Amino acid sequence: MSNTMNFSAGPGALPIEVLLEASKAVEALPETGISVLCMSHRSDWFRDVIDEAENNLRKLLDIPDNYHVIFMQGGSSLQFSMLPMNFLRGTNRHAEYIVSGYWSAKAFREGQFEGEAKVVWDGEETGYTRLPSLNDLDLSPDATYLHYVSNETVEGLEFTWIPGLNDVPLVCDMSSNLLASPVAIDKYAFIYAHAQKNLGPSGVAVCILKDEFVKRANSTLASMLDYRMHIQAKSIFNTPPVFSIYVLMLVTRWLRDKIGGLAAMGAINRRKADLIYGALDTDAGFYRVHGQRPFRSTMNIVFRLPNPSLEKLFLEESQREGFHGLEGHRSIGGLRVSLYNAVSLDAAKALSTWIVEFLRQHG
Ligand SMILES: *Cc1c(COP(=O)(O)O)cnc(C)c1O
Repeated sequence: MSNTMNFSAGPGALPIEVLLEASKAVEALPETGISVLCMSHRSDWFRDVIDEAENNLRKLLDIPDNYHVIFMQGGSSLQFSMLPMNFLRGTNRHAEYIVSGYWSAKAFREGQFEGEAKVVWDGEETGYTRLPSLNDLDLSPDATYLHYVSNETVEGLEFTWIPGLNDVPLVCDMSSNLLASPVAIDKYAFIYAHAQKNLGPSGVAVCILKDEFVKRANSTLASMLDYRMHIQAKSIFNTPPVFSIYVLMLVTRWLRDKIGGLAAMGAINRRKADLIYGALDTDAGFYRVHGQRPFRSTMNIVFRLPNPSLEKLFLEESQREGFHGLEGHRSIGGLRVSLYNAVSLDAAKALSTWIVEFLRQHG
């Protein structure tokens, strides 16, 4: 196995160039002569890193000036809780959630702990195989916020439209598809994404918050759980994950300089997904894609084979061929191909060829 054939769902593949530069930095940073693991978070060097990470994200995503960009710990799971703590606690507030898969169900659960949270659409009855259209959503115009997950990583379902009502603040967990293609940031009040699927190593999450939305936050929270504290401290309220933020910054550079931005990245990702789905669709009786066709994710391709022993064989043989990380999520089983930004077109080609070959031998 090698880093070039890693289809893991998370922590996911990172660009080889980034891995090489990060390994050198572990020994010593060229700028300081000190290991990145031993640099002070209060150093000028780190201030520059965090500023560049923020600026690169702003340029790549075209983030307007009335949005804050902060780096947080606790993964996306902490965001499931911080969101309702900051915005849902208190009277006359109610939040709405689209439950379209494993992760949005988790987010909803945490919302309920903090206040009145309501499900406006639930995909569980259809086994999380499809996503809603606007008409399916039971929305109210006075909701405190509407939450959804743009790409359901476990089931392989991706929104191709932006749900919600104009005056209701829209909150989105983009953990598995932020930076995979352009995003209309101004449609959102708050976007969050941990790094370990598509932006960098685990340990850091990116939060993009509209200033107007932040002003509605509760003022009685513990400092570490209060977005305003982190905004004020420019992401250095306490010791942040220096190494994770450094690598995330390298990834944003790679996207800017090597790939040429998110439109280009999106086009490459589309081609990769078409290759894999194309291979699976050569025999839809053998390879059974979990999600219905219009909702198929470009990032996570989830499918089953006719029986568990064939799935086991597929995993064993794929590993022997050098393909890593193809097992499905423990909650639904089966197989999953994750095609995050750092997975190359060549890697997708090699896997698609092998998928057809496996069918030829065992179909
Ligand atoms: C993986 C994932 C999570 C969980 O993130 P943690 O950082 O492990 O808390 C949340 N949301 C989505 C969409 C994910 O893919």
